[in-house]
Amino acid sequence: MNDAEIVAWHKKNLAAEVAGKMVKRGFKAVYVPTAAEAKAAVLDWLPTDGSLALLGSQTMNQLGVYAHLRQSGRQLVDHATQTAGLTPAEADNYKRGVFTAAAMLTSANAVDMEGRLYNIDGVGNRVAGLIFGPDSVVVAVGLNKLAPTPEAAWQRARQVASPMNNKRLNYNNPCAKSGRCHDCQTVTSICNYFAVIDRSRPEGRIKVVLVGEDLGY
Ligand code: SF4
Repeated sequence: MNDAEIVAWHKKNLAAEVAGKMVKRGFKAVYVPTAAEAKAAVLDWLPTDGSLALLGSQTMNQLGVYAHLRQSGRQLVDHATQTAGLTPAEADNYKRGVFTAAAMLTSANAVDMEGRLYNIDGVGNRVAGLIFGPDSVVVAVGLNKLAPTPEAAWQRARQVASPMNNKRLNYNNPCAKSGRCHDCQTVTSICNYFAVIDRSRPEGRIKVVLVGEDLGY
């Protein structure tokens, strides 16, 4: 085996173990090696009717899923492009559209080796939608977000994903300067709601595409 084949073997084995555990937790789960295959898998899992809620996800952006859907003519709940000029209260109200969408799309901040999903959220629309939102939820996660333990998953979410999302969103929180969490307790903190998705209920409602590429933060 050459180096590339060994890397591919390693990813495939880890992903197969995690996907198998996810299925036992009620998720649908599939592993694909490439971003192109992941985009196709995500689109294949979307319902053909009803609106789609696009939650903030650099992973979905990098896969090209959101750009595709924005040109598809589908009815969207798309706060990244549709809330400019709204007051914060109006923007939050728009985000509540996730609860009436046919499906929502998102990623996770981390996944542990037992197949659980970890997310930290600012206003809660993502974790609320994951838990009690649309009938169908499609989650795409790069294997760069795989953590060996729950503690490592939270560490990743808090110390890697959140500071990088602060930087992306141009927030003036201390992590956006240092690159690590300072438990800032500011009104602009994006770390207010912490959720572990341990199982999918109903079974099959949450569908996870594990991707053998580095995606998102
Ligand atoms: S709690 Fe504050 S400092 Fe820590 S990652 Fe979140 S926003 Fe940044």
